[in-house]
Amino acid sequence: MPKDYYEVLGVDRSATAEELKKAYRRLAIKYHPDKNPGDKEAEERFKEASEAYQVLSDPAKRSQYDQFGHEAFVSGQHGAGRGAGFDPFDIFQQVFGGSFFESFMGGGRSREAARDGADLRYDLQIDFEEAVFGADKEISIPRAETCTRCKGTGCEPGTSRRRCPQCGGTGQITMAQGFFSIRQRCPVCAGTGEKIESPCRDCRGEGRVQKRKRIQIHIPAGVDTGARLRVAGEGEAGRRGGSRGDLYVVLHVRDHEIFQREDNDLYCEVPVPFTTAALGGTIKVPTVSGTAEVRVPPGTQSGTVFRLRGKGIPSLRGYGRGDQHVRVIVEVPVHLSAKQKEKLREFQEMTADSSYPRMRTFMAKARKFFS
Ligand SMILES: [Zn+2]
Ligand SMILES: [Zn+2]
Repeated sequence: MPKDYYEVLGVDRSATAEELKKAYRRLAIKYHPDKNPGDKEAEERFKEASEAYQVLSDPAKRSQYDQFGHEAFVSGQHGAGRGAGFDPFDIFQQVFGGSFFESFMGGGRSREAARDGADLRYDLQIDFEEAVFGADKEISIPRAETCTRCKGTGCEPGTSRRRCPQCGGTGQITMAQGFFSIRQRCPVCAGTGEKIESPCRDCRGEGRVQKRKRIQIHIPAGVDTGARLRVAGEGEAGRRGGSRGDLYVVLHVRDHEIFQREDNDLYCEVPVPFTTAALGGTIKVPTVSGTAEVRVPPGTQSGTVFRLRGKGIPSLRGYGRGDQHVRVIVEVPVHLSAKQKEKLREFQEMTADSSYPRMRTFMAKARKFFS
């Protein structure tokens, strides 16, 4: 069970934004990993506090959390919780701004170091047949790409990074605060020690731009809803030489008009005229790979299931195929002409109860109700 966010921060449920922030600052400073190197417990507390504050400091998320608790953020899809993309250092950074803390703690973690790109998730709807036989699809995803104008450097072509004039390239400046003289990360270069002389026009110095990228994906035969295809290296671009994240395509298979699927088996119902069911005959049955003929023996009852071996869904493992189960529904004719009715009455008169074994068994059991 995840801990209650208010408990984690040690505040009342009615805490104001200011109280939340204060509580978070206190815990973040106490448990920051740079201050507690190698202390797993402290790191966990730091993450917990950051996660709690990330949710509670956002009024929309806080009200969701108040209503639904952790359920509101299951699987991290809403961007909260400890799901994909949650970085406790991001929220720390937001609260502490330029963070005097990092340099105060003796260097610490540089946010400007190479950073791998985020993984991306893309939800893709596919047709039933595509899931059965596999398909090649092209999708178009918005993602961060390395800027082509500056090749990721963030500098206008022909210009370069210069040593930061503010800090002289050290990335840190010394500031007096009260009695203390503390070293603080240089606000001009954000601790890199370098300054972009003239920021790239396309990415404004970021080195990355949002673009739509077309990606070919192959859907293997036999997939079902919920299948996740990993496309390595097609996530967001990294920063400063960090590697690309991965792309995860999550499949959703549309329902079929005729077939229901269960694992690799298919189920369908086929109406059959009562005459065919009584006399026997051959019926045409749709399958995912064309039509099949099913022989219906004389006296076939409604609900009888015929199995078509190997007409189901190919196994994802690459060998074998499921079966198709055909459930026969005997249909009684409607809109009969006078002549047809006449023939049926004739038929009825010459038919004994023994022609209806199920009815006979039922009547024997039910007799006491009718006496
Ligand atoms: Zn650029
Ligand atoms: Zn600087």
